[in-house]
Amino acid sequence: KESHPDQATTPNTHAGLPPATNPGPRMNATFVTLARNSDVWEIARSIRQVEDRFNKKFNYDWVFLNDQPFDDQFKAVTSALTSGNTKYGEIPKEHWSFPEWIDQDKAAKVRADMAARKIIYGDSISYRHMCRYESGFFFRHPLMLDYEWYWRVEPSIELFCDIDYDTFKFMADNKKKYSFTLSLYEYVETIPTLWESTKKWMKNHPEHIVEGNSMGFLSDDGGDTYNHCHFWSNFEIGNLDWLRSPAYIDYFESLDKDGGFFYERWGDAPVHSIAAGLTLKKEEIHFFNDIAYYHVPFTHCPTGEQYRMDHKCHCNPKDNFDWNGYSCTARYYELNKMDKPAGWEQENS
Ligand code: GDP
Ligand code: MN
Repeated sequence: KESHPDQATTPNTHAGLPPATNPGPRMNATFVTLARNSDVWEIARSIRQVEDRFNKKFNYDWVFLNDQPFDDQFKAVTSALTSGNTKYGEIPKEHWSFPEWIDQDKAAKVRADMAARKIIYGDSISYRHMCRYESGFFFRHPLMLDYEWYWRVEPSIELFCDIDYDTFKFMADNKKKYSFTLSLYEYVETIPTLWESTKKWMKNHPEHIVEGNSMGFLSDDGGDTYNHCHFWSNFEIGNLDWLRSPAYIDYFESLDKDGGFFYERWGDAPVHSIAAGLTLKKEEIHFFNDIAYYHVPFTHCPTGEQYRMDHKCHCNPKDNFDWNGYSCTARYYELNKMDKPAGWEQENS
């Protein structure tokens, strides 16, 4: 896709900040953050890191979404920190509430039961709305319809290395649709029937299952059972047209009808991951080894000392999660027949 004409000239005229140092056209892309007003100082830290390490050179826009109206302080603080244009959107009620087919008593029982079993966010209604929103709606928000590419940013994340190239352009040039920095196994208690729902959908919609997909990342027995591997969706750079495609929307709607966002506690991470694994060719999913990233409690610190020096990284390679037994990233490498980065064995010891 062509670069966005509006951004073909150096942006960042509105804020009185220095111009973007990276010359050339821009992609039709935005950062996107779902947040509460109370997240303001945590998201401020994230924005500062993203701007310092990447966006001061590119000045991409930033869309903020909230189920409540953003307050003046949130808008003022985030606008002051960002180099691109900021947009603030409220989420329509229909996208942040229980669908009519959900049995409220059953959902309430589940929450009480999960609370008793101490499952993280097990008793939370808002967390379930959040997961459902990130699974099925953020890419259809009116403010997001203008864009083709997104980079999701959550509060309190860290970026540890300079990113000197346009990651959105990289995605487009290399025909990538979805990307990750961390992968891991999902808590089985939160998704006991997600795979049954997925298999039902696959049977009803074989036309959406792409040849050369990443089933081997998701399942160890050819699709019979889910191994719980997923890409961690608090970081994502992805293609919005893929999320808005019939394949993805069909998958989301089928899951939504089955009710597991409320009768269990399905996360958007396994939902995005399974969809990417089945509806994209495996080459369309990218691992950004060069984006050094932290979201509590995991770190992706790029393997390879020379790279870390050259990009002024400040992460401790000992904290890198990639080659840990609880990471699924080695499986991704195997499925894609990629050699692990030089140095992974030493840095893992
Ligand atoms: P965790 O990373 O799974 O522990 O969940 P977070 O608390 O980080 O929430 C995920 C994202 O959704 C973050 O960007 C939060 O700011 C946002 N979020 C979570 N709950 C709500 C909510 O009730 N309202 C809004 N507007 N955003 C929320
Ligand atoms: Mn988070």
